[in-house]
Amino acid sequence: MGAVRGRIVVAGGGIGGVSAAMGLAHKGYEVVVLEQAPQFGEIGAGIQIGPNAFHAMDYLGVGDAGRAKAVYVDKLIMMDGLTGTEVAHIDVGEAFRQRFGNPYAVIHRADLHEVFLAACRSHAKVRLVNNQTVIGYVNTSRGAKVLTASGETFEGDAVIGADGIRSRIRAQLTSGDELKLSGHVAYRAVLSIEQMPEDLRWNAATLWAGPKCHMVHYPLQGWKSFNLVATFVTDISSVGANEPGTREEILERFGHIVPRARKLLEVPKTWRRWVLGDRDPIENWVDGRVALLGDAAHPTHQYMAQGACMAMEDSVMLAHQLDKHDGDFAAAFAEYQAARIVRAYRVVLSSRLIGKHIYHAEGAERLVRNAVMGAKTQAEFCEDLAWLYGGTGLSAGDLKAAA
Ligand SMILES: Cc1cc2nc3c(=O)[nH]c(=O)nc-3n(C[C@H](O)[C@H](O)[C@H](O)COP(=O)(O)OP(=O)(O)OC[C@H]3O[C@@H](n4cnc5c(N)ncnc54)[C@H](O)[C@@H]3O)c2cc1C
Repeated sequence: MGAVRGRIVVAGGGIGGVSAAMGLAHKGYEVVVLEQAPQFGEIGAGIQIGPNAFHAMDYLGVGDAGRAKAVYVDKLIMMDGLTGTEVAHIDVGEAFRQRFGNPYAVIHRADLHEVFLAACRSHAKVRLVNNQTVIGYVNTSRGAKVLTASGETFEGDAVIGADGIRSRIRAQLTSGDELKLSGHVAYRAVLSIEQMPEDLRWNAATLWAGPKCHMVHYPLQGWKSFNLVATFVTDISSVGANEPGTREEILERFGHIVPRARKLLEVPKTWRRWVLGDRDPIENWVDGRVALLGDAAHPTHQYMAQGACMAMEDSVMLAHQLDKHDGDFAAAFAEYQAARIVRAYRVVLSSRLIGKHIYHAEGAERLVRNAVMGAKTQAEFCEDLAWLYGGTGLSAGDLKAAA
């Protein structure tokens, strides 16, 4: 099993929790991941992952497994939902891949999660524990421990709160901070390839931007299915996840969109909906031997398609700092936080702006969007995105050394 450097308890077994477990185990830590659900798993939907996420997966030892499950789209396309014409596209083919050192891809969430789970299961230092709802933490004289609803205690040298947007660890660490309503609801469905209208079976992550709404579709699972997400402005007043949604509501909210796109929304028989929220950035993710990671630290709207990518990047930085500071958790956590805050919150704040002013633009704002985005060259798009896709926040030298 190799020398054990210490023991770390991770609260939450989503993409953040299992990627953190892999990063820490590779650095010699024994890791216990506590998940509230009866099984480790992800919802049936797609996710987009940028080159930065593949860099992170490479560092975490699962890059090839992840690349094997992904679909490689040629373009990211934005269509105008009112006219049905292209606003702009970004080529993410060979030149893009060369520039950023890894591809842009789409993948089923369960496949991405399973890649990490399989790695965790085959690593002697990782233990995955289900049916454990974390209710709080305590800093102790030699580390930290979490308490669970079943009355059990899991103790380690440190605790990582990777328990998502409604994190119990964050609630205690911040003494409670507000969940912000975005005013948007996202409806999700997965269509079989046969259900996807032939004229929309594009090898692209396609976004139809309409006033007060937008929809996204892309192929998944070796082109066996298509992921569909339709988001619109709502007045629902409480954040919610994975609730049943109604066909009537979605068809009404996209009534002004061109028939070519709208007809896609008539296909799914059932929908699940997420009433979206995020939280304001905070300057502290650490309390003694406890640190936050992933959505627990920086929940975000999905408009940059980067929430899970950021969680994987956090895992890289956390593992790197704990390795570098070798047992000095205070120094490691301080550097981890300092290295992650600006990058992760740039995504959070940019996502808020993009959702409102780009994807849902209306009137003159829509005309400005179309003119500005339509005039950009491929080189300019790449330059705009270089801060995000070009790395993981870790220096190129450190990334390379770890590979
Ligand atoms: C519509 C939509 C589309 C998105 N698209 C993309 C995309 O294209 N690309 C991208 O990178 N990101 C995307 N995201 C964001 C991404 O899904 C999240 O950022 C990511 O899943 C966060 O992972 P996490 O592990 O930090 O949190 P979560 O996925 O929320 O995982 C938290 C885990 O902790 C468990 N848990 C919670 N509370 C407790 C507790 N008290 N005790 C024990 N366990 C607990 C939960 O059951 C869960 O398993 C999207 C999000 C939405 C809503």
